Amino acid sequence: MSNSFLDTPVEFLKGVGPERAKVLKTEIGVHHFGDLLRWYPFRYVDRTRFYKAREINADLPYVQLRGTIVSMQTLGKPGQQRLVAEFRDDTGSVELIWFQGVKWLAGKFKPNTEYIVFGKPGLFNGRINIAHPEVEEVTDENTKRASALQPVYPATEKLKVKGLDSKGLMKLVKTLLPQMKGKIPETLPESLINKLHFPSREEALTQVHFPSGPAQLRNAEARLKFEEFLFIQLRLLRVRAQRRINFKGHNFEKVGDFFNTFYEKHLPFPLTEAQKRVIKEIRRDMGGGKQMNRLLQGDVGSGKTVVALLCMLIANDNGFQACLMAPTEILATQHLHTIRELLGDMWVNVGLLTGNTKASERREIHEQLRNGTMHILIGTHALIEDEVQFAKLGFVVIDEQHRFGVEQRSKLWRKNTNPPHVLVMTATPIPRTLAMTLYGDLDTSIIDELPPGRKPIKTVHSFDSHRLRIFGFMKEQIAEGRQVYVVYPLIKESEKMDYKNLMEGFEAISRAFPLPEYKVSIVHGQMKPAVKEMEMQRFVRGETNIMVATTVIEVGVNVPNASVMIIESAERFGLSQLHQLRGRVGRGADQSFCILMTGDKVSADARLRMKTMCETNDGFKIAEVDLQLRGSGDLEGTQQSGFTGLRIADITKDGTILQQARVVAAEIVDADPHLQQPQNAVLLEQLNKELKESVNWSRIS
Ligand code: ADP
Ligand code: MG
Repeated sequence: MSNSFLDTPVEFLKGVGPERAKVLKTEIGVHHFGDLLRWYPFRYVDRTRFYKAREINADLPYVQLRGTIVSMQTLGKPGQQRLVAEFRDDTGSVELIWFQGVKWLAGKFKPNTEYIVFGKPGLFNGRINIAHPEVEEVTDENTKRASALQPVYPATEKLKVKGLDSKGLMKLVKTLLPQMKGKIPETLPESLINKLHFPSREEALTQVHFPSGPAQLRNAEARLKFEEFLFIQLRLLRVRAQRRINFKGHNFEKVGDFFNTFYEKHLPFPLTEAQKRVIKEIRRDMGGGKQMNRLLQGDVGSGKTVVALLCMLIANDNGFQACLMAPTEILATQHLHTIRELLGDMWVNVGLLTGNTKASERREIHEQLRNGTMHILIGTHALIEDEVQFAKLGFVVIDEQHRFGVEQRSKLWRKNTNPPHVLVMTATPIPRTLAMTLYGDLDTSIIDELPPGRKPIKTVHSFDSHRLRIFGFMKEQIAEGRQVYVVYPLIKESEKMDYKNLMEGFEAISRAFPLPEYKVSIVHGQMKPAVKEMEMQRFVRGETNIMVATTVIEVGVNVPNASVMIIESAERFGLSQLHQLRGRVGRGADQSFCILMTGDKVSADARLRMKTMCETNDGFKIAEVDLQLRGSGDLEGTQQSGFTGLRIADITKDGTILQQARVVAAEIVDADPHLQQPQNAVLLEQLNKELKESVNWSRIS
């Protein structure tokens, strides 16, 4: 069946002129009828329920009342007038208030007439009232219509200006629905619909906008959510299946001198059981004739680097080169130092390539990569440039803070005719549901154990007004020979102010910790890389006591002697970032501390973030709370978590449906990897359609 109805430009809908069409497109990406149908309500108001005036308080959501208007008054100066009406039922009265259309409204309402009033109670001048309610005379018609769940749509300011608030959007959908009868193609195989007792797509779309009752709404939502997850999982699992079919994978048959010498003579500590298990999992993949694509999850400080190194050495043992790609220059440099130190005098040629590598060095590196004398290359995005050619690349590690897109990953694959094995390491754990959605094409390994002897970091939440006490604490720690980090946020949008705060903070600390007794370092993104690196090294060598920095130190740096992490304006950081920062301390044998500094007043969300940080050091738990908090999107009231492209399903709440969709998708792809069987034709068609529309998809997988 053709999709022409769904692909009809939204301008063709009655009530949508050129101006509205424009905001619909730019504000919420609604270009076609199909997009409008997928602009789902984010909640419903129960219009079967009538509240009593006595029950009304300012905390209630939208309410509906039935009664009469007993008096009206126009108050305020001309130009700022408001209309105030007393609305009464048999239990008491509620004030209604309008700030616009005062004159027109004042002439509209009649005495002794029964009205239905609908709106959100609030507080104004210390009194409970309903501002700008909908008011309709009671008629047979609207008492019938009122007996259903009414959709509430997310809308932006720009939409509202064009009359497309929730109610305006509702009108559009209401106009559209009767036209779609018989024109909505099915997207799921019939057998699946029957098996899961789903309504048809057309029925689901009708019910999700105008449910005839709670049960119908639940069924519609269940189907639409399932469907969203299913197509994501089908995409991911198909990528995985096709990789398995198309790519043979280099067979790393043996473990040889590189690995063994390192393991026996250089490894400074015994591996944890979790590290050993993960290396076995990776080894099994790489020695099994298939191309590995694996996600390695582990908390900060769980020892992912050494795992990566051991695997790179296995690649070297089998005559292959390896590379490790990091998100920032500082982290790449840190990896280089760590790995060179771990390798000691072993004859392994390790190079560094970043955007700042000098041309002469760069030429040398390119040469060594091509003639095969470079064993391990560490670097940033610079690694994926076309001119970087390996003689025999067999293993790639991606250490990511911000995810590299699938295109970037696939560029790395293409660096050898047969793609290398790929290990993606996350900086902090991510929740299972999110991993399944973002990295669902990868197999997963988890390091769920920290190296022994780590003392849990003590975390406290403190306030700007207690700064002197904090300085005192820093002095005590420094007197014991420890070092301290002080981190400032640096957010692109408020960069100027942030630098100002950073410099002021640096000055205040320099005054409180004067030379020659104390030495204070500063590192931030506007410094030249060489200077930055020098300051970093001074701190690493213990020549300075305090490191004042922006989040450039967020990832990677390893200074076991640093035992205090002070995070300024902590309310501005997300949870996983806070956890990542905290992970910079607690790496030595001493008790470490993390102090979260905020203003005296913080939002409820921020308070929960601080509380979570103080209560737990467990990155997996923190990741769950983080997802719950970030789950709600940017738009007022939307559930759309932009980065996954989900419109109705919610990763934070619909884990069970996601799991079910994953299982079903796996069954389908296992039985029919190319989706060529007739019953899967609808799935293939929909996948191809989504691929073409491909909103955010390139960032997934
Ligand atoms: P992350 O997983 O955050 O990347 P790292 O690889 O940086 O963690 O490791 C953190 C610290 O723990 C490093 O100093 C590393 O040398 C040390 N480490 C790693 N594995 C072990 C182990 N099995 N026993 C003791 N220390 C370890
Ligand atoms: Mg790391």
